[in-house]
Amino acid sequence: MKLLLVEDESKLIGALSHILKKNGYSVDTAMDGETGIEMAATGFYDIIILDRMLPRRSGLSVLKELRSLGLNTPVLILTAKDSSKDRVEGLDAGADDYVVKPFSTEELLARLRALTRRKNKDFIGDTLCAAGLTLNPLRGEVIKGDCTIHLSVKESLLLDLLMRNLGQVITKERILEKVWGYNSDTDIASVDLYIHYLRKKLNIKNIVTVRGVGYYLQEVGDVP
Ligand code: CA
Repeated sequence: MKLLLVEDESKLIGALSHILKKNGYSVDTAMDGETGIEMAATGFYDIIILDRMLPRRSGLSVLKELRSLGLNTPVLILTAKDSSKDRVEGLDAGADDYVVKPFSTEELLARLRALTRRKNKDFIGDTLCAAGLTLNPLRGEVIKGDCTIHLSVKESLLLDLLMRNLGQVITKERILEKVWGYNSDTDIASVDLYIHYLRKKLNIKNIVTVRGVGYYLQEVGDVP
């Protein structure tokens, strides 16, 4: 697993590289934003850890540029800030996850594992399998255990979005845009309502609320 670490604090680089290498990652480092873009844009890496505060170019601006280049490598943001505004900014810029400094190495490793699992998640034909559910989006059918549950079009689109982004927080704004469309005059409260419908219909507890931000679907058996 090839990992790019974009971080400017040499102490943290040393400590992280050591732990990451011990856990089977091959680690390259970029110490400023410009170098980070150059290295990441090669597409050589399986996963990127990106600090928010960097010299020459901020982490968010690096991320936006990489996404605008079409790079879809999973990116985990390291941030010293923990307001929901900062989290939303990071996720909207295309981050897959974020860790707030100071963090435990166990937390970081767990999040990296989740990101790589997600990347390797496969689609079987036209159905989607995640978190103990099998969704056929075209038919609007979910198989859970030996039950088949029928969903409305919006419910099916919403679940599809959650399953494709397993373990990844999706902002309510993004859900609204993906499920109801850009120009919809639907209120953001509909997102909460449809999450409620899904939880009830599927009788599941692993659609997790991130207060003030959005929702994510948790893999069955993952410890929060
Ligand atoms: Ca920094």
